[in-house]
Amino acid sequence: MIEQVSGGDRYLLFCDSCGEIEDRGFKTVQEVVIYKKAAGWKSKLRYCSDLVRWEEHCPDCQSRRRRYREEP
Ligand SMILES: [Zn+2]
Repeated sequence: MIEQVSGGDRYLLFCDSCGEIEDRGFKTVQEVVIYKKAAGWKSKLRYCSDLVRWEEHCPDCQSRRRRYREEP
């Protein structure tokens, strides 16, 4: 998920699978979106009763499911 820090001057990117936090001084949601696309994060739309929200999954959690590149 993407969350606004209280005070509203910064955004954080959380992995909804492992809880990893990316805190890179994002100033806008747009900056977070650009970063996560470039870094290989994936978004999933999740429906919980009448709520709809985006879940974000970090590259580590994806490679755990499907390893296509192993570092030596
Ligand atoms: Zn993760």
